[in-house]
Amino acid sequence: MIENALTLLGNFRIQDLLDIAIIAIMLSALLIWFKDRASRFVFLGVTVVGAIYLLARFFQLYLTTLVLQSFFAIVLFVLVVIFQEDLRRFFERVAIIGQFRRKSFAVKAFHESAEIIAQTAADLVRKKVGALIVIQGDDPLDRHLTGCNKLEGLLSQPLLESIFDPHSPGHDGAALIDGNRLMRFGCHLPLSANAAQHGNLGLRHTAALGLSERSDALCIVVSEERGTISLAKGERIAAIANASALRIELESFFAKRMPLKNPQPLLRWLKENPREKVLAIVLACILWVIFGYQRETVRRDFVVPIQYLNAPVEWVLEDPKVMEAKVMLMGPAQAFQLLHPDSLKIALDLKQLRPGAQEITLKREMVKAPSNLSVVGISPERIKVVTSRLLPQTVPIEVLTENAPPKGIAIQSITILPKEAQILIPRRLRGKRIRILTEPIDLSLLDVQKVFTPNLRYPADIQFAGGKTPLIRVVVKTKAPADTSPQP
Ligand code: ATP
Ligand code: MG
Repeated sequence: MIENALTLLGNFRIQDLLDIAIIAIMLSALLIWFKDRASRFVFLGVTVVGAIYLLARFFQLYLTTLVLQSFFAIVLFVLVVIFQEDLRRFFERVAIIGQFRRKSFAVKAFHESAEIIAQTAADLVRKKVGALIVIQGDDPLDRHLTGCNKLEGLLSQPLLESIFDPHSPGHDGAALIDGNRLMRFGCHLPLSANAAQHGNLGLRHTAALGLSERSDALCIVVSEERGTISLAKGERIAAIANASALRIELESFFAKRMPLKNPQPLLRWLKENPREKVLAIVLACILWVIFGYQRETVRRDFVVPIQYLNAPVEWVLEDPKVMEAKVMLMGPAQAFQLLHPDSLKIALDLKQLRPGAQEITLKREMVKAPSNLSVVGISPERIKVVTSRLLPQTVPIEVLTENAPPKGIAIQSITILPKEAQILIPRRLRGKRIRILTEPIDLSLLDVQKVFTPNLRYPADIQFAGGKTPLIRVVVKTKAPADTSPQP
């Protein structure tokens, strides 16, 4: 056991730390996200099934693993349906991070708003006037609010009270406050589907709960019937004792949005939700031990192409060339999972070759493989390479033509540039006649075209000096149609 732990630590790489850190951050975000949600029970259920799956895999229970694997495909689909609202919110928030949407209000403005809202609520309770006040958090609310009247005015107690005055036509629905501004009133909120769990809620309370389930907004309900104040926040609704308790709640809600309140955001972030973060790190380590870390090393063989590199222009490799070799690799199974066999190559540098037949030892350094896989063998170990030096030669380039010139046009001369080519030939072609021809030039085109740039035809085993095929220009001169006379 201790020995195992020691080898595990001995094989630990920086990449593994990064691996664990990324998973831990993702897990902690997930845990914190689900901490206060009613849907956390679904999450809990999936986690339990996930744990069973991991254990089944670890102990190699094939049937359980197989069944759960197919089960997860369905669960994924179901989860997307269940959590579609959360997913939308998640992506909305990710989008907001980039936009820096947070409006900054002065700290004083927040205190004033808390005071005004608490006073108004107390006043409305006394008068038994119903009200629904929404205070914006970081989430955008446009998607959830319908039928609003726009106001965007400075918040004040008389303004709020007149909005909820039962004689005013705008008293129905909710008023939306952002910082110290009353943005809208008469808004229709989405209703909660979970109202039954919270007892006998009327529509106003159900609407407040509904918005708190879909956003981070704070909803204050003043009940017309019962003369109470309730607060809906984070999927929960609860009654509040009095106006001063409401003020304390408002102050702490606003505190989160206050600018420059926290000079050390990183430190504060680290201190938040310590339990979830520790749990996430532990879980990430467990997952890494199960999936990321593998005790046994595996050996696999691959047939790998040989690349002949840096051959000097004046040298040729004679056939038959050895084009591939078997390479034996060793390393952790994961490294093989991430390996693209096509990327494996044996690179053979031909710079120091001698002419003639020779044996080259294929060395392990010649194999291009990922650093976490080691080459334990190559077969064949030695390959035979026959090279010969090419001989320089100068050969004339011949022009080929096809078809007859159009009627009335006679050819006076054909010139080709360059007239000859410098080539390199293998020793075995020495003394043999080598022809370099142009692709046939179509003489029937002569009335429209007089200059041609044909490609060349030449034997496969010759090379042009400098390694490049020369560009050919053929100019055909024609006689004027007037003095057409038979050609010799
Ligand atoms: P109260 O305790 O004040 O009676 P309640 O929760 O019992 O509140 P209802 O009696 O049904 O709720 O109150 C109806 C009022 O709630 C409506 O007049 C309207 O102003 C408001 N209301 C109803 N539905 C919505 C909604 N979807 N969004 C915003 N306001 C709503
Ligand atoms: Mg009612």
